[in-house]
Amino acid sequence: MGPPGVGKGTQAKILSDKLKILHLSTGEILRNEIAKKTKIGKTAKSFIDHGKLVPDGIILDIITEKTLDKQSNDGYLLDGFPRTIPQATGFDKILYKMGHKLNIAINLIAEEHELINRIIDRGKISGRSDDTLKIIKERQKIYWEQTSPLIDFYNKKNILKNINGIGKIEEITERILQVIK
Ligand code: AMP
Repeated sequence: MGPPGVGKGTQAKILSDKLKILHLSTGEILRNEIAKKTKIGKTAKSFIDHGKLVPDGIILDIITEKTLDKQSNDGYLLDGFPRTIPQATGFDKILYKMGHKLNIAINLIAEEHELINRIIDRGKISGRSDDTLKIIKERQKIYWEQTSPLIDFYNKKNILKNINGIGKIEEITERILQVIK
């Protein structure tokens, strides 16, 4: 977890390689659906391009399908999911049915103004349609309104680990590995 641009995707890719855990990024799955011009992709695009969250029902269907499709005994590294309380409670039910549980929620922390330039730079390379100043501001607002309540949600479950998300990529990976051990 963490605000837009904090490095969730970067760290998730590195960690899934290092730890050999399946990486599931809802953002990437949605961008793939958009590229393939599927029905889900078309719906998702109208939300993503405005910096809004894609409806919970669509996201929970994707997660159910992907976790059933790619059954992994070693678990999953979820990136950018859950993003709302209904997603988190829906996910608890999915996990319960599968006999799995959530071990740890990693919360990457950084000041927002540090992140805006990072995202704008990323947009120049990634070509992501939502990496523009106006949309970033909207995504940050949505993060505080809808996603940040998950910090308290996972803290109460005693699985939240706060990690300083500022520094070199490898330093942040090391901080995460320390708390996973
Ligand atoms: P990300 O790649 O995680 O930054 O996600 C990019 C965009 O995809 C977000 O701004 C949302 O519009 C959408 N998205 C990704 N994951 C979710 C999710 N779990 N719930 C709702 N929308 C999502």
